[in-house]
Amino acid sequence: MGLAKRGLTDLQAIVEFLDKERLLARVHSPVDPVHTLAGIATRFEGGKPVLFENVKGHPFPVFIGLYWNRDGLGRLFDVPTRELPFYLARTVAEWQQSPVHPIVVPHGPANEVVEPDVDLSKLPIPTHALEDGGPYIDSAVVIANDPDTGVRNASICRFLVIGKDRLTCQLDEGRHLRDYYERAEARGRSLQITINNGVDLSVHMAAIVPASAAPIDKDELGIASHLLGEPLKLIPGTSVQVDAVATAQVVIEAEMLPKVREPEGPFAEVTGYYAGRGNRWTSRVTGITRRREPIWHTILSGKEVWNAVGLLGEASIYQQVSRMVPAVKAVHLAHGGCGFYHAIVSVRKNAEGIGKNAILATFGVFPSLKFVTVVDEDVDIFNMEDVAWAMAVRLRPETGIITIPEARCHELNPTTHGGLGMKVGFDTTAPFPWESRFTRASVKAVNLAEFEISA
Ligand code: MN
Repeated sequence: MGLAKRGLTDLQAIVEFLDKERLLARVHSPVDPVHTLAGIATRFEGGKPVLFENVKGHPFPVFIGLYWNRDGLGRLFDVPTRELPFYLARTVAEWQQSPVHPIVVPHGPANEVVEPDVDLSKLPIPTHALEDGGPYIDSAVVIANDPDTGVRNASICRFLVIGKDRLTCQLDEGRHLRDYYERAEARGRSLQITINNGVDLSVHMAAIVPASAAPIDKDELGIASHLLGEPLKLIPGTSVQVDAVATAQVVIEAEMLPKVREPEGPFAEVTGYYAGRGNRWTSRVTGITRRREPIWHTILSGKEVWNAVGLLGEASIYQQVSRMVPAVKAVHLAHGGCGFYHAIVSVRKNAEGIGKNAILATFGVFPSLKFVTVVDEDVDIFNMEDVAWAMAVRLRPETGIITIPEARCHELNPTTHGGLGMKVGFDTTAPFPWESRFTRASVKAVNLAEFEISA
């Protein structure tokens, strides 16, 4: 059932649901948004999401951790945890076949209050890591219109607050938003955007869907309609000609300025390293609208991003690769690979060599990948100890490893140079036809309840 029928169309409803299901931690004490908030949040990473009720210097609470626990996400979507990537893959496929486009309505909760003057310091934007360059907006969905076709794009990038109406950001190579900006800049024009903070699950998931599944001529916000089970509602910007998410908590309207670059960074990134400081893309904020009582949403680089990026990556890799190589049965983007760099692919081998084809297809649909490890179906792709077992006692390095030097990789990964790096595929699958020496030992399955045990 869609999120809308279950009432989960905004962050307030999500927080209420988590609270009712005892899946939420609440911090009552006053907490400094500079460093202390992240210090507390880190202790909950992977467990319950956290609501900071009392953020020093601000009247609004801060919410973190929505994506760091897949079981919690499974409960929100009402889908078994391990089914999530398949559920998302089906939803994206449904959208590709017959998209339900968003609709624009005149008003929504996100423009209940139109701030009379623009001042980003009034928002409880935290500074997370010790060497971060300042407060970062790190979980907001950016909406922009293609300067040529008008097609909407939704994506997430990091924004550093450098003044009461000024932001700098990182625009990754190959992203649609960067393409939009570069075409606007070439004409000496700014690119108008809305920065939507505190959106519901459907909009976040839509914004994360990789470009291979949602190409530049498609408005990926339609994917949110399919997750909601009804058309996503947008509202017009008040100072920009770009729409915003009607149920967002806060909408920051801005223009990305042509030919202007100002300092951005450092920022603790998804890799676990700091991205360095440099002169980067600069935006001037032209308006801020919000709910009467907004919840500021932030994320911590780490498990949260690995899960969010990982789930959508798994969904789109599975959807596309299983079409090319039907032996592929499941995909996991391992946390140890930061959700970006290491895919574990499960195959039901039906011919010799199929593992290598699965490796090539997987690299093809997810360009950030550095490693692809293909395993037989009896290996648990969510358990890296089991994957390491397959490496140790199934992989024949003489024939099972393929390397592709100097390929396009992910520039955030410091093992690349100029975005180039080596991709490595590990085909750990047993020979076909199956040889009994590769059959795992097993023991009888028992029901412990039938035995008197003290432990
Ligand atoms: Mn896009």
